[in-house]
Amino acid sequence: MTLWYLLCLLVILQSCAARLPTNCKPSSYKISLVVPETSLTSTGNTFTGNVDITFQLMQKTSSLQLHSSHDRLTIKTLQLKHIATDTIIPQTSSVDETDVLTITTTQELEVGNYNLQISYDGRLSTTDMNGVYKSSYVDSTGTKKYLVATQFEATHARKGFPCFDEPSYKATFTVDITVPKGFLAMSNTEVISQNAPSLSTVRYQFQPTPVMSTYLVAFVVSDFTCTEVPGSSTKNHVCSRSETVNTRYWAVEVTPKLLNSLNVYTGIPYTESISKLDQVALPDFRSGAMENWGLITYREARLLFDPEEDGTSVKQTIALVIAHELSHSWFGNLVTLAWWSETFLNEGFARYFQNKITHEIYPEWQLDKQFVVKTVHSALAEDDLPSALALQSDVETPAQIDTKFGNSYDKGGSVLRMVEHFMGSANFKRGIQQYLSTNKNKNTKPANLWTALSVAVDNTVSMLPATLPNVMQNWIEKAGFPLITVTKTNKNTLALKQERFLFSGSDTTTKWYVPVTYTTSVDTAKFEKTSPHLWIEPDKEATIQVPDGASWIILNNQQTGFYRVNYDDALWAEIEKALKTDSFGGIAELSRAQIVDDLFNLAKPKKVSYSKALNIINFISNDISYYTWYAARRGFSFLLDKIGFESDLGKAIKADVLKLMDKVYKSVPYTDLKPTDDLYTLKQTEVIGLACRLQHPECIEMSKSLPAKDLRNIVYCNALRHSKDSTDWDYLWNAYVKSNSLSEASNLLQVLGCSTDKNILNKYLQKTITDSEIRLQDRATVFSSVLNGNPSSLDIALTFLIEHQQEIETQYATMSALTKLMDIEKYGDKPG
Ligand SMILES: [Zn+2]
Repeated sequence: MTLWYLLCLLVILQSCAARLPTNCKPSSYKISLVVPETSLTSTGNTFTGNVDITFQLMQKTSSLQLHSSHDRLTIKTLQLKHIATDTIIPQTSSVDETDVLTITTTQELEVGNYNLQISYDGRLSTTDMNGVYKSSYVDSTGTKKYLVATQFEATHARKGFPCFDEPSYKATFTVDITVPKGFLAMSNTEVISQNAPSLSTVRYQFQPTPVMSTYLVAFVVSDFTCTEVPGSSTKNHVCSRSETVNTRYWAVEVTPKLLNSLNVYTGIPYTESISKLDQVALPDFRSGAMENWGLITYREARLLFDPEEDGTSVKQTIALVIAHELSHSWFGNLVTLAWWSETFLNEGFARYFQNKITHEIYPEWQLDKQFVVKTVHSALAEDDLPSALALQSDVETPAQIDTKFGNSYDKGGSVLRMVEHFMGSANFKRGIQQYLSTNKNKNTKPANLWTALSVAVDNTVSMLPATLPNVMQNWIEKAGFPLITVTKTNKNTLALKQERFLFSGSDTTTKWYVPVTYTTSVDTAKFEKTSPHLWIEPDKEATIQVPDGASWIILNNQQTGFYRVNYDDALWAEIEKALKTDSFGGIAELSRAQIVDDLFNLAKPKKVSYSKALNIINFISNDISYYTWYAARRGFSFLLDKIGFESDLGKAIKADVLKLMDKVYKSVPYTDLKPTDDLYTLKQTEVIGLACRLQHPECIEMSKSLPAKDLRNIVYCNALRHSKDSTDWDYLWNAYVKSNSLSEASNLLQVLGCSTDKNILNKYLQKTITDSEIRLQDRATVFSSVLNGNPSSLDIALTFLIEHQQEIETQYATMSALTKLMDIEKYGDKPG
């Protein structure tokens, strides 16, 4: 028994599925499905299917392999036919526990075109919201309604129909679905015909899809209604359960604007591939949303906006999530990753373009700046452990594939932003158009991206020290990112050194090509310049000549480079002096946010002492920038979580931070609401949220009146945190159970974890495994609400996780949702 085999047994058997052989190339699928009436009631969980796959065999073989879920599908008949001779080929077949369907023929198959027909029975999942699953909701009359939906990314299409379930096996899919009369069936493409096979059923026949990967196939069977989106060249609808009709308007408003921007930027109209776009809000959905081509599915809170309950951040989030999914139509659907080891080619692009495109339409939200504190800073924080994964790393099994989604979004988006800035925006856009047009309907690896972008590189702007693929290699193939240390070697000369930045441990071998920009006190307009002044090359010295009269220098303008910066004592002293003068010595707000984030993180591995870091950060007492305070809130929260809010040191830090907050707090008084000023409202929510967490006395006052919707969560959470009366929690729980508003219900779930009563929190967590009143999709939210509600709740959450691992695996949609919430390594290591 080999070590590998032993490992396979030790891990989950399913995790050891290998890749399919490359001898077959499917070109088209015809899929016929029947969802019986019983499966849209409480009684049945089945469907039946028939799939007809045309494929080309490119090498002689007597064994074919594709995917079919051993657990969800039962094959009834299987017929293999040689198309040219119309000969049916005798075969035997079996499905193993890794979901590989092997068809063995007695005689060797010749190279040529074949047809494979499989009829099967399918089982709808009611627990994990992947593959084909059944969901339900209670309508306004109190009647329970059922629906069937799909989630096939990354490896779940095999649970809906036997298929070559890997992204590079692109084909067309022609789907028909027979459903009980009164139900609506939707799939990726337009309905071409509708007929009635019987008095009680309707058969929907859909147009063939464009050439695409299996994970993008989707269908929904429901009693939903749809709102047509005007002003779009695409047949465009927003659909949901009928009682939520009034919450569709925001999605209806933003979708055509976003789609139009993407059409213009990419130079490839959406309608070139597919003629319709349905966006559907599902009452139970595993992730935030899924980009199925032509049929994007969302959890309700990510598509529907309730103006009575939802605040500014929800409105922005919905626009950003829609923009993310629409971006995938090009980055993912039209041009698709070759394999899941390069998930960032889908998700990094979608993360970057969701911000870029939404920023074009709503510049007043300053999403270009929000990207720095929300995406770049998060990506850096996720990427500083020895265990971090490179953007491109080998994966094989479904479990490994799931892990690739982690940093592909934020690090992928941040690295692409760096490329745009060192290339220049116009060149980057030309390169991206080249990438899309050259690779449309194909699969790509990072090399294809660099080849296309290389054509658009203007070296007078980017000054590349090597070829673009060489420059990008370690950003993609290595985990982590550089720390640049700046040291003054004589009056005007600074030496720059790089090393991998790690929260713990060390790595002296990984080096990068690092684009460096900088600004000095004598030319503060340079903060705008993001094309490189110079590059640091691996294992080479780099220096900067500072102009005469410069009293400070700051590297990494607008933090477009994906790295941190440290300075020697004298340079930090100069920066500190500037920050503590009027107008921060001209240092721009994003650079101030960067300095705050870098200092907090440099203190963790003792690259800078906490006392020095906090002394410099004190400048924020005069700073009322949203971005500076966003970074500061993060840094102080991490510190207080580590040392304990109620420890002596924690209490002292809380008092200090409240003092530092005085000016920014007064700039956004809770009595002064500006509902039409979204950025003001975001800042107000951020600042008052921190103040309440630090027990600002005014928070108690706020809870005595009905707070504004943006502040409601903060105020209720704070009230519950200090409540001595358990009936307060019961009151809010009952409000959750009775709520007809999905936004209100979702807000209440987040607030309920704010209690500090151990028994109540245990009761709340127990409800996630015993109580059907908490939707499957929301169980991880309950857990995070307890985990983040109070620092003292960490032990309760951890104990629950350890004691109920089995139940969580079956009752929560996904364990990975939980483990992502908990950065165990960081919690386990106290800073010095
Ligand atoms: Zn995505």
